[in-house]
Amino acid sequence: MTKGDSSELWYKDGLKFSCSGCGDCCTGAPGFVWVDQSETQAIADSLGIPREDFEDQYTRKIGLRRSLKEFSNGDCVFFDNETRKCEVYGSRPRQCKTWPFWDSNLRTPEDWERTCEECPGSGTGKLHQLVEIEDRRKSVKI
Ligand code: SF4
Repeated sequence: MTKGDSSELWYKDGLKFSCSGCGDCCTGAPGFVWVDQSETQAIADSLGIPREDFEDQYTRKIGLRRSLKEFSNGDCVFFDNETRKCEVYGSRPRQCKTWPFWDSNLRTPEDWERTCEECPGSGTGKLHQLVEIEDRRKSVKI
């Protein structure tokens, strides 16, 4: 396989994913939802507040980067526990939009199997074509 040739990727025939809306990926064990300035701006705009206020209130600095804050139980700060929905879904960060087609989930079939065990929507439902998977995989480095 030549470098950049995607025709021999193990998932070249596509992968299935349809979100069931369980909310598991937004809750539970602590983690990071990385946001850059364009993403904090987009969410701040959707909330109608200045970006600086948004960053102070809803994000934390980790080294040079920023991540969304979490509640003490690990749930994302924008996860509504009653509706089990994201409160900023329309302007959600790239990391959330591209799930589950992250590099770390696609390296090997075993990585994808692990992802399917963690996320009930992965491995079922709509078949996503290689071009879309690769678009999503390349737009975040996770
Ligand atoms: S864990 Fe998977 S099925 Fe559940 S909300 Fe997240 S993406 Fe959807």
